[in-house]
Amino acid sequence: MSLIVVGSVALDSVETPTEKREDVLGGSAVYFSYAASFFTTVRLAGVVGEDWPAEHTELLESRGIDTTGLQVVSGGKTFRWRGKYMKDMNDRETLDLQLNVLADFDPLLPESYRHCKYLFLANGSPTHQLKTLDQCQGARLVVADTMDFYIRSERNGLLELLKRVDGLVLNDSEAKLLTDDDNLVRAGNIVRGMGPKFVVIKKGEHGAIFFGENETYVLPAFPTPDVVDPTGAGDSFAGGMMGYLAERDCFDPKTLKEALAYGTLTASFTVEDFSLDRLQAIERKDLDRRMEEYRKMLSF
Ligand code: AMP
Repeated sequence: MSLIVVGSVALDSVETPTEKREDVLGGSAVYFSYAASFFTTVRLAGVVGEDWPAEHTELLESRGIDTTGLQVVSGGKTFRWRGKYMKDMNDRETLDLQLNVLADFDPLLPESYRHCKYLFLANGSPTHQLKTLDQCQGARLVVADTMDFYIRSERNGLLELLKRVDGLVLNDSEAKLLTDDDNLVRAGNIVRGMGPKFVVIKKGEHGAIFFGENETYVLPAFPTPDVVDPTGAGDSFAGGMMGYLAERDCFDPKTLKEALAYGTLTASFTVEDFSLDRLQAIERKDLDRRMEEYRKMLSF
């Protein structure tokens, strides 16, 4: 079933306590679409500049990702993000953020994108997220992500967006920032009160909490010892989750829980190397194998 993602397409520079990478493939829509491509066909919308290496688009296309909606601005520079992880890899600092072509992005979707059933509004400006949503009136499941940058800079637009989405995924510090409440259970419920039918709070290596109409539950992260670079974990989580929902073409509570588990496992692979390197080295059967281990781990 058709799944669309709109979000950032980036060149990331990442420092971990032991290694560094410059200008590697990244961005919320990129991690999302690659993760979702293990499950379904994805159509990606975003913007890049003239400096965008063609091989990155080729990589996405090799996964069956439709890049018709990826605008290339001639003379423009691609969005760049530079981040640094502390000794505790849950702790990250943004060292530099250059919006470049993302600042003037007009998310005008190709006609072929507008009849999608599943829509993910990945990290990006709420103004862009709302504009995208306006073009996909028939979408049956709309889920959004947000982050500290937009909670601070575009709070009103974000509150407007929350009234119109079915689900929101955000991380623990962002939930606290949005609600001004340090208790995550209360924060999740407060965010749900802002509009979405369900809210997923991601807690890095501590898993995720789901807040729905009739249930609240916690899923642990898959315990991987090889955390190399956590960048994109949140977007891969969302990609695995939405990809699975689109594949099953169902989003009842049981399927949603399975989808959260697949999201968790997809993210557990992403963090095992820089950029999309680990995801490029695995296949769907590796996700399924990890799912078997995860199920065993959770049954007692
Ligand atoms: P995550 O680690 O899942 O939170 O996502 C990391 C990705 O988000 C990186 O690849 C960045 O390029 C992207 N990113 C960082 N800041 C922003 C921003 N302000 N807007 C959109 N995407 C961003």
